Amino acid sequence: MKKMIYLDNAATTRTAPEVVEAMLPYFTEYYGNASSIYEFGAKSKEAIQGARETIADALGAKDNEIYFTAGGSEADNWAIKATAECYRDKGNHIITSKIEHHAVLHTCEYLEKNGFEVTYLDVDEHGVVKLDQLKAAIRPTTILITIMFANNEIGTIEPIAEIGKIAKEKGILFHTDAVQAFGQLPIDVDEMNIDMLSASGHKLNGPKGIGFLYIRKGVKIRSFIHGGAQERKRRAGTENVTGIVGLGKAVELAVSTMEERTKRERELRDYLMTRVLKEVPFSRINGPRDNRQGQPPSQQCQFLLPVY
Ligand SMILES: *Cc1c(COP(=O)(O)O)cnc(C)c1O
Repeated sequence: MKKMIYLDNAATTRTAPEVVEAMLPYFTEYYGNASSIYEFGAKSKEAIQGARETIADALGAKDNEIYFTAGGSEADNWAIKATAECYRDKGNHIITSKIEHHAVLHTCEYLEKNGFEVTYLDVDEHGVVKLDQLKAAIRPTTILITIMFANNEIGTIEPIAEIGKIAKEKGILFHTDAVQAFGQLPIDVDEMNIDMLSASGHKLNGPKGIGFLYIRKGVKIRSFIHGGAQERKRRAGTENVTGIVGLGKAVELAVSTMEERTKRERELRDYLMTRVLKEVPFSRINGPRDNRQGQPPSQQCQFLLPVY
């Protein structure tokens, strides 16, 4: 194969070799069911618990607040639909933004067909949610604010701590789709007043088809899948042990290298942006110049190039 330069790391990333290596024994050697009552399953159970703790630590959360899912889309669906259902007595209004991922937007549209009202906030020319508009949109019936942490098309980082503060003051639950931010930016769910957070393995050099939803203790949430007692009876089905192990390893790597890695990525990004802007006539950046995700040249450094 010819050498390829892959520039779309916002769509997915390569699974890190260390991640693959960590996963392999759970296919071949330790394939026990984590729910089995005998010793063989214990190895899987331990591995799941290890990954859960790694992820919880990365967010300043507790391990029993992490629920594994089959990716970011499932986590978004779960958070939004379950909140809508569980808090229906309190109200039927949800606030989100116009630039969310489809996993959030289409879920909100689905709820609109089922008696919920949704406000889609505008963003400014840099893709930043307008906080004044957010405050003005809040109603006595607002039960959820769901705003993404970082945008997957233009890389804008949203003012999550400010949004969390507003939500907390008003007693409204706050969910963030952090699929593009987790592993790239430091996140503390307590400091930022985040009640629910979605993330996905394959955006941070982990495997595809695995992710998690952080749910703050005390938030009412219904089961996503009914069945066995897995994930504290909230998400039934035999655990994706290999995926969970891979995700745990990817998070461990992402957290331990975050500072130096993102510094290097910012340098590369800035170099590319500067040269494109200088050397390609009529090009301009879509999104903010600085307050953006630092992945290497990818969708997250999107240019509008002139068409000749
Ligand atoms: C990729 C992505 C998702 C979906 O995650 P999957 O694991 O692919 O389902 C959700 N939100 C954002 C912002 C994403 O970039």
